[in-house]
Amino acid sequence: MKPTPRAFRSPTAFAAAMIVAILFISAQVAPPGGAPNPPPAGQTPPPQRTPIKPPPVPPVPPPPPAPASGPLTTAESTNYAATSTCADVSAFISDLQKLSPLVRVESIATTTEGRDVPLLVIGKPVPRDPLALRYDKRIVVYFQANIHAGEVEGKEATLMLARDILLDPKLPYLDKIVLLVAPLFNADGNDKMEPRNRMGQVGPEKGSGVRSNGQNLDLNRDAMKLESPEMQGLVRNVLQRWDPVLLVDCHTTDGSFHQEPVTYSWPLCPNGDPAVIKYARDKMLPAIDATLEKKYGTLSVPYGDPMDFKDMEKGWRTFGHEPHYMTNYVGLRNRLSILDENYTYADFKTRVHANYHLLRAILDYCAGSAAELQKLVADADQRTVQSGLAPAETDRFGLDIDVQPLPGKLTILGYEMEPPPAPAEGAPAGPFPRMRPTDRPKTYTMPYYADFVAKRSARLPFAYLIPLASTEVADKLRQHGLAVERLTGPATLEVEAFRLKEIKGAERLYQGHRTNTVKGEAAVEKREFPKGTFLVRMAQPLGHLAAYLLEPESDDGLLFWNFFDRDIVSQWGRGAQTYPVYKLMAPANLAAAAFN
Ligand SMILES: [Zn+2]
Repeated sequence: MKPTPRAFRSPTAFAAAMIVAILFISAQVAPPGGAPNPPPAGQTPPPQRTPIKPPPVPPVPPPPPAPASGPLTTAESTNYAATSTCADVSAFISDLQKLSPLVRVESIATTTEGRDVPLLVIGKPVPRDPLALRYDKRIVVYFQANIHAGEVEGKEATLMLARDILLDPKLPYLDKIVLLVAPLFNADGNDKMEPRNRMGQVGPEKGSGVRSNGQNLDLNRDAMKLESPEMQGLVRNVLQRWDPVLLVDCHTTDGSFHQEPVTYSWPLCPNGDPAVIKYARDKMLPAIDATLEKKYGTLSVPYGDPMDFKDMEKGWRTFGHEPHYMTNYVGLRNRLSILDENYTYADFKTRVHANYHLLRAILDYCAGSAAELQKLVADADQRTVQSGLAPAETDRFGLDIDVQPLPGKLTILGYEMEPPPAPAEGAPAGPFPRMRPTDRPKTYTMPYYADFVAKRSARLPFAYLIPLASTEVADKLRQHGLAVERLTGPATLEVEAFRLKEIKGAERLYQGHRTNTVKGEAAVEKREFPKGTFLVRMAQPLGHLAAYLLEPESDDGLLFWNFFDRDIVSQWGRGAQTYPVYKLMAPANLAAAAFN
């Protein structure tokens, strides 16, 4: 990425707004998107920490006043003391439908607890279905909020923006864009509102919902295993059905301290199309960052946490590359994505307004670059199909992925840090190095660790062959939208097998799984595959995703997520077996029929 020059960002306005609120903080590096939920009923909550109170950030300019004929969000009508319940969202959407012919409502999913996850389709004219867009130059852009239902400003901002676009004819976006909006992705988490949830977050004071869905799953870790109705619905009813060129996923930060109210990321997974990552990182997001500041008076910075709170300029590090994170997953599908993480210590009103401005800046960019975005993703699809038809030695799947700094340095508007007073005698020591921000602003310049590179790699095949009678794995691949076939007769083929030498189940349960890490070696063998063997060709637009799900050593694939547990260990006797997914390296003419 090109770090944005920040020399001109020493806002005197900020100093004025610095009414010193002092701050006894335990600084810690947290995973993206928020602290975990409180324990389920019946379990003892952890001891309460002192609420975190870093210096306030300066407010951002308010969005234009709501059109007089339109409804107000719960945030607006309570002066940002509360956030919308599911019923509030429903009522707001019904009002919009009464006021405008430019919106239709579809359903993404019915949640585990029986709630609807609504999808607003906004267009001029509003397309009846995606087929109506086949000869249409408009691009489809998808805004999603509330995947972590304690992180609520995206819900309010997307609703406000939907209203303003529908009711203010001056907003130009609909000439170029069909806008999809899911304000309430984690509906089951939303109404479990409690002021105690996300203790450190500054508002809304009446509380916000919880992180997990009705299955106690984190939806932003479910993009590869697709175990939730919400994620299955997203893939089927949004990504497959409408094929948006861009997904924006709205969250709230944790852990870091800075003055910018908005942080963002691009798709990070290096096993996707490199041109998509590069475009998002080097062109699209720097332009959006600049518009956000110049046109909307809102500062933003790439997402991250300090690598060392005691040595702030050591580096700023982003989150993981794995495609179980929504935005990385979308990149693996050759589409653009933006992770929005709003600063948790900015007050709720500022967060809503900043998020609103970010969405406007994104729409400004998309409307101005619609044809370019369409071509970028179409070219990525074409490249993926082409390389799958005759994979070369250089078509590789990266393994042992590590992060390194991007060229150049990043500037963060932070605070001078200081150690907190020593804990009282006998008080338990925290697990993290504790530092707290002072109220003295300080600009840090540091490397940004956000470039993921593979330390080794495996060759990509022409196709994967899966000789299993059970359809479980094939069904999962179909859920992702992959084309799966079955051999219509037996075929003897030279393939690469993966002989497992070691299988290690994780000690700690993670998202309901003891995930597998395996070691083994590839061996070439000739083998007869029976009629009915599942076949997954790499010559399809989702080829990168197929490889990530099926490569034996993938760090986020179906073997990792326990989908092959019954087949990788012999049921009598000892020892690991051969992984039941074979790589056909050379192109071959195979008799096969679609598996649906
Ligand atoms: Zn989050």
